[in-house]
Amino acid sequence: MAKSIQAIRGMHDVLPQQSPLWQFLEQRVATVLKAYGYREIRMPILEVTELFKRSIGEVTDIVEKEMYTFDDRNGLSVTMRPEGTAGCVRAAMENGLLHNQTQRLWYQGPMFRYEKPQKGRYRQFHQIGVETYGMAGPDIDAEVILITARIWAALGIPELELQLNTLGTPDERQAYREELVAYFSDNAALLDEDSQRRLTTNPLRILDSKNPDMRDMLDKAPTLMSHLGEESQSHFAFIRETLDSAGVSYTINPRLVRGLDYYSRTVFEWVTDQLGAQGTVCAGGRYDGLVEQLGGKPVPAVGFAMGIERLIAILEMLQPDAATVNADIYLVLLGEEATRSGLVMAEQLRDALPQLEIVANCGGGGMKAQFKRADRSGARFALVLGDSELENGTVVVKPLRSDDAQIEISRDDVVTALKQRFA
Ligand code: ATP
Ligand code: MG
Repeated sequence: MAKSIQAIRGMHDVLPQQSPLWQFLEQRVATVLKAYGYREIRMPILEVTELFKRSIGEVTDIVEKEMYTFDDRNGLSVTMRPEGTAGCVRAAMENGLLHNQTQRLWYQGPMFRYEKPQKGRYRQFHQIGVETYGMAGPDIDAEVILITARIWAALGIPELELQLNTLGTPDERQAYREELVAYFSDNAALLDEDSQRRLTTNPLRILDSKNPDMRDMLDKAPTLMSHLGEESQSHFAFIRETLDSAGVSYTINPRLVRGLDYYSRTVFEWVTDQLGAQGTVCAGGRYDGLVEQLGGKPVPAVGFAMGIERLIAILEMLQPDAATVNADIYLVLLGEEATRSGLVMAEQLRDALPQLEIVANCGGGGMKAQFKRADRSGARFALVLGDSELENGTVVVKPLRSDDAQIEISRDDVVTALKQRFA
């Protein structure tokens, strides 16, 4: 036998027993987004590499070392999207969605990053994300955060912590950057290799470091708050006050800077301590600079993305049985005649009872084997059809989840009998 082929490291199948939980999550989230008037957009998975270099920025983990990039057959450098924001901006610009209008969009799908696979960190993972365009005020920042809070409620996930920060405007950040570089230079001995490098390329991101040895030094680092102008301050205050009034609690985390360069003012993350090191389940903020950076007229933008695998992991811990899916009826069909007749009966039942999950036995098998399959399907009732039932024009209804006796009824009465049982 030839050696069997395995999935690529860090890329996972969503198996049949897992997909109900994924569907539960996807449907609940879609319902919440609809309730706020957001519209789904679907972008290609493959984009020209240039898009991500220009949007995410050359000196980021993603662009430096995480992208799946290759030349297509025509020599064009293309990349499997590592995130959704860049492609969404590209699509919105290209299709004229940003001219004198506001947009509330969402997307979902797989993202690809060549990272070291571990729990909660994969090479193919999934995000649901929201992007809004054309709204400069803090109202939309607040709305977007309120959406995320409602999503956790809809999923039944308690105890996520909202961390909030503001990065100010690029100008305000510039002044802060200088103060920060001075502080880090004074503490150069405490910087790890990555941070040494970032000191010249992207010093703010040092704040984002997860290295525990640097923690103490980072906690004492100067914060941006003292560099904020009046407008940035009132923008931030509006968001905090709205969240306060809406009863959404948060903590201000001055070290929250986000990995990507295009953020301005608001940044937020939802974190949990239930997942070990990979504790961020949702991250977002305002990125007013991105559209211009990609060659358009400046358009204010706010969005977030959540990591589906991490949310699924929480749901699996909280409610392991939440999304088990069972059949309702299993048709045990004994012999060729009964099988043919049973398949047709199953069609009639699905016409009359479209809400039920009706599984007809296929692939033959004796009574015992078929009842085993019936049991595995989770069905509440088996309908049994063999030679004698065919002859009598009847069906046997056998309860599979109770000790009630089986009964034999006329085929004409099956729909009525099932309607009663599943009322
Ligand atoms: P991290 O700090 O965990 O690397 P990030 O800042 O790179 O996260 P974002 O680009 O903001 O992550 O993506 C938004 C969300 O997508 C994250 O909060 C996380 O829940 C999820 N996510 C990011 N990368 C991965 C991955 N490799 N595997 C699984 N989920 C991921
Ligand atoms: Mg990352």
